[in-house]
Amino acid sequence: MLHEFDLISQIRRQTRPSPRLTVGIGDDAAVLDWSSRPDCMVTVDMLMEGVDFTLDMATPERIGRKALAVNLSDIAAMAGRPVACVVALALPQSGGLELGQRLTNGLLPLAEEFGVALAGGDTNTWQGPLVLSITVLGEPTGRGPVLRSGARPGDWICVTGPLGGSLLGHHLDFTPRVREAQALHAATTLHSLIDLSDGLAADLGHILEESHVGAVLRAESIPISPAAHEMSRTDGRSPLLHALADGEDFELIFTLAPKDGQKLLADLPAGVAVYHIGEITREPGLGLCHADGRHESLAPLGWKHQFTSR
Ligand code: ADP
Ligand code: MG
Repeated sequence: MLHEFDLISQIRRQTRPSPRLTVGIGDDAAVLDWSSRPDCMVTVDMLMEGVDFTLDMATPERIGRKALAVNLSDIAAMAGRPVACVVALALPQSGGLELGQRLTNGLLPLAEEFGVALAGGDTNTWQGPLVLSITVLGEPTGRGPVLRSGARPGDWICVTGPLGGSLLGHHLDFTPRVREAQALHAATTLHSLIDLSDGLAADLGHILEESHVGAVLRAESIPISPAAHEMSRTDGRSPLLHALADGEDFELIFTLAPKDGQKLLADLPAGVAVYHIGEITREPGLGLCHADGRHESLAPLGWKHQFTSR
């Protein structure tokens, strides 16, 4: 009978040496070279079959990739650089070896693309559904991490890409905005930063709450993805509502001083898209301003409940 070590040795054969990984898979714990920085970022995300995905909805490779990508997005949301990851798998006994292998096959190319070493993990089997949890270690770049709490009244609110309709596929295949966050952090002074996992209204809400400010968004400035239009045709919810409320866009929202915003738009870092979608206000709450002058309040409690994704 095959067991966890058959999977671990397969995975071990697939990993390459990495300059930061002093001791990798095969010992009791991994050892990383952290001499470059005094500070370390840590983030973890768990995906559960039946809650976050079903195996008929996506291949194991795409699920493995996504499990790493959501963590890389969290490092991006701090303007950090991902360095290494550890992977915890609870695999169903039946078919679990193949499943574990395919999950790993899905995440390794993304790890390689972003220079993230697979430092280790834990492999369990049980008679339950698939659960996988990935922890990513990273380090701040430039002037340190960018928090949710730094937004100031008058700041521009910007987003790095079109929003909404992610369920049509983007939520599995997105590219975490790690490079974009670093480029923005190097190019300008970011006051606050977050990645879009719960939806524009909800995640901007986190910045507002942590920064003790409010915001007004301009409806016509919010970039709407083709997928949001496509979903709108079948479910009757407006593309704008999809852009505001759908989760898992995994773009970045950031705020910065207006003069820095103007300079940034005039001279964008290569490969980075920036849409200026609104302003931070001193008054709390989240407002939406329409092109015809209509003003709608996305009241704090209202939008938190109303806009939970999926
Ligand atoms: P221990 O019992 O000492 O915790 P394990 O038997 O759990 O060790 O793991 C053996 C080695 O394999 C460790 O280096 C661990 O980090 C690594 N490992 C286990 N599962 C995985 C996995 N799914 N992906 C990558 N490395 C793994
Ligand atoms: Mg272990």
